[in-house]
Amino acid sequence: MRIVMTGSGYVGLVSGACLADFGHEIICVDKDERKIAKLREGGVPIYEPGLADLIARNVKAGRLSFTTDLATSVADADVVFIAVGTPARRGDGHADLSYVYDAAREIAGALKGFTVVVTKSTVPVGTGDEVERIIRETNPDAQFAVASNPEFLREGAAIEDFKRPDRIVVGIEDERARPVMEEVYRPLYLNQAPLLFTGRRTSELIKYAANAFLAMKITYINEMAELCERVGADVQQVARGIGLDNRIGSKFLHAGPGYGGSCFPKDTLALVKTAEDSGAPIRLIETTVAINESRKRAMARKVIGVCNGSVRGKTIAVLGLTFKPNTDDMRDAPSLSIIQALQDGGAQIRAFDPEGIEAAQPLLQNVDFFHDPYAAAQGASAVVLVTEWDALRALDLSRLRGVMAGNGLVDLRNIYRPEVAEAAGFIYDSVGRGMAP
Ligand code: NAD
Repeated sequence: MRIVMTGSGYVGLVSGACLADFGHEIICVDKDERKIAKLREGGVPIYEPGLADLIARNVKAGRLSFTTDLATSVADADVVFIAVGTPARRGDGHADLSYVYDAAREIAGALKGFTVVVTKSTVPVGTGDEVERIIRETNPDAQFAVASNPEFLREGAAIEDFKRPDRIVVGIEDERARPVMEEVYRPLYLNQAPLLFTGRRTSELIKYAANAFLAMKITYINEMAELCERVGADVQQVARGIGLDNRIGSKFLHAGPGYGGSCFPKDTLALVKTAEDSGAPIRLIETTVAINESRKRAMARKVIGVCNGSVRGKTIAVLGLTFKPNTDDMRDAPSLSIIQALQDGGAQIRAFDPEGIEAAQPLLQNVDFFHDPYAAAQGASAVVLVTEWDALRALDLSRLRGVMAGNGLVDLRNIYRPEVAEAAGFIYDSVGRGMAP
């Protein structure tokens, strides 16, 4: 099949490269000329494990190419995906759909022959209706169907997630789209693909319902961690104790500094807004959003705690900046709020991240960046571990303590055992591991 991917970011690039790997002919389009130039030179504008090799292999095989010219690509396509960004709109938290609608307009003008236009971006209920209206208005003669096909991949494991998804959700209102979408995903499975066809609005809502549920699960265990700290219980054992129950499941029960990233914060907010506007407010998610917001900054209080009540004039080393390991994505990373809160308290920040420094630099002022965790810790009163990168899982704690000026260690991912950290000379704090009174 000839497929166009509009938007070559984390989702578009991974989806395009994976579909090419299964034999489809893919053109990835982006309006960012630097991104396309880099891809054409054999580079990859984002960090995602395995992606560089996957792209190189499929470019070489002639199945994957890159362009800024949407119109020419669309004319020959059977399927055109829209995988552009849908960030939170400034001010009110609604999803900003301007990129989606602009893309729809551009696509509309170039359609030739029957084409399925598929929204892969995460978009609020009813967006597919509007995309359909825009295309019809822009090009009344176009032969097309608009489908919704939300993406569930996780950054850091995106290729595996795309190639072996738990399910593929496709929302259609026009039966002509069904065989086309079946054919797009058929190569992923030897047996029947776990394709779930629904109405378009249902499909759009499934994505938000899934993300909001996961965000709520994380927030639940974070609140439980808070309680554990007060009553002398261990949140990791609580998580294991409840997670082994199949009805609950063990995933997304890791207590930490609050969820971040390019999806959960904006998607929970957008769902809250949709629900509010529809007269069916979802209080559980409203509360989830509020708890998570305050939690991120509250983590700075742990750092202040191990620094005898103040970080003013002190140096703090932040290890791990991205919202999770194995990505360079800094969007809404908890580290941003934690660093801001520490700077507000008068601290000087030194930071380490294996892949995120380039993306972090424009978002953080007055921070010194290092490519080595021990270099970042030099002269620090305290170290705070924010992201559980592999490179931070087996630090030589005595060496770390040796380069620091103070002895605070705040482990927001519970990587280390308290007794080991304390034996290395640290005043140690983590998440949800309360001391029995
Ligand atoms: P991104 O910002 O990394 O990429 C979007 C790309 O679209 C950018 O490169 C931008 O230049 C390009 N673009 C914008 N308008 C365009 C146009 N008219 N024509 C061509 N290119 C255009 O975003 P992302 O992280 O890939 O997310 C895309 C969508 O997928 C969002 O709706 C997001 O919520 C959703 N999603 C993201 C993830 C994730 O893990 N990142 C997972 C599932 C779903």
